[in-house]
Amino acid sequence: MPPFPEAAAHALRDSQQRHNLHKATRTIRAKRDALVAERDDWEQLRLSAEAIKNRTLAHLDEYLLQFEEAATAAGATVHWAPEAESANRIVAGLAIDAGADEVVKAKSMTTEEIGLDRALAAAGVDAFETDLAALIVQLAGDVPSHIVVPAIHRNRAEIRQIFEQNMGAFGRPAPDGMTDDPASLAAAARAHLREKFLRSDVAVTGANFAVAETGTLMLVESEGNGRMCVTMPKTLISVVGIEKIIPTWRDTEVFLQLLARSATGERMNPYTSTWTGVHRAGSGSGASVIDGPEQVHIVLLDEGRTDVLADPAGRSALRCIRCAACLNVCPVYSRTGGHAYGSVYPGPIGAVLTPQLRGLRSEQDRNLPYASSLCGACFDACPVRIPIPHLLTHLRAEVVDDEPAFPPSPERVAMKAASAMFGRPAAMGLGERLAGLAHKVIRGGPDATVPSVPGLAGWFGSRDVAVPPAESFSNWWSRTDGGTRESGDGR
Ligand code: SF4
Repeated sequence: MPPFPEAAAHALRDSQQRHNLHKATRTIRAKRDALVAERDDWEQLRLSAEAIKNRTLAHLDEYLLQFEEAATAAGATVHWAPEAESANRIVAGLAIDAGADEVVKAKSMTTEEIGLDRALAAAGVDAFETDLAALIVQLAGDVPSHIVVPAIHRNRAEIRQIFEQNMGAFGRPAPDGMTDDPASLAAAARAHLREKFLRSDVAVTGANFAVAETGTLMLVESEGNGRMCVTMPKTLISVVGIEKIIPTWRDTEVFLQLLARSATGERMNPYTSTWTGVHRAGSGSGASVIDGPEQVHIVLLDEGRTDVLADPAGRSALRCIRCAACLNVCPVYSRTGGHAYGSVYPGPIGAVLTPQLRGLRSEQDRNLPYASSLCGACFDACPVRIPIPHLLTHLRAEVVDDEPAFPPSPERVAMKAASAMFGRPAAMGLGERLAGLAHKVIRGGPDATVPSVPGLAGWFGSRDVAVPPAESFSNWWSRTDGGTRESGDGR
């Protein structure tokens, strides 16, 4: 995938995709705004969520151990995965141990992040997505373009075509007479997926929250496919980023009110599933599983998250609850779509989280912090008050600091010169006099701008720089004593 500027320019030429994105993000935004407006305490909820997440991150080591102890006591097996490779190895090994050559999956950005489907395929295990949008993406051989609605870039006509052409290669084919009516498409997906739910002995999910005090995992979704995954198969494997921990069951009250409204513009998600270990009756060797999976495995994934936690200026990104509200309000995302970001996490939070998790090594990741107009709409929409614009500028500073000193770029030279001038009053005075001279040379009306400067054409290409005034502010201030008197020189 090329860096964001090139990928975005390519995406912007796709008018059909722009139309699909505009329509979808506008609809979700309107629903979200209406439901947020219902709550007088929306700001208090946001502040509470921020405080809970901050407290959790400050003591994450303790809460993770508490979670492991509670989940293990309830019959789950907890695995620790420092990076993607070990998480994939653990999941593939568990599936093979269970005798499975296929698994059903509930939509999970974490498993997308670690490339689990590819790793399972390499181990001889087919992974079938069961969320409708994730199914569309899988059947199309595509990648997700949105955190909550992975197929947001597709319209109904495209989805019908994908189902007709590709469903048969993955299992039950699309029925004759299927139309692009949503009910007809959903019926085709339901019949296709039910066959897989009834056949699969292993399911893989993510989780929205992991409750430390009880060892409970929680999954919220809209279609019931997640509920099927956590109840029907004999073996349930959940891959959970370590930042998904919240301390207490009571804390879910805050997050469930924020998440549904922010993500899909609903008061409550249609399905909220919770599971705590294995549900047994009796004890010791006489115990038997009376409901749900016989084996529950939880893979706690780091994959760069402790590095993010170690950065005091950047760790607030770990508060993210993946609601995608920031994507839906972003003027950049809503035009380019998610693929241009070249990451599982697109949009404003992707522009922060991806380089934080992967590092600023590749050209693609070094470009992501610039994929924003810094308008601030993402912060206003974020239910956990992540200061995304601040994090973006923090990362931009890291990109610049990381650039080799030689040969210096024209922008770096200009910034160094400005820094030297602002730090020395005499140099500043000289600079002000030169700016006054520039005013006389360039002239023009009040809206006149500085023409491009050789070597800085790129910088000037996207900026209008006003012609400096004839007199600097500090000069005017001392001449007029802060505007309290006229100097009498006619200016
Ligand atoms: S950064 Fe905030 S708005 Fe964006 S996905 Fe995360 S929680 Fe939602």
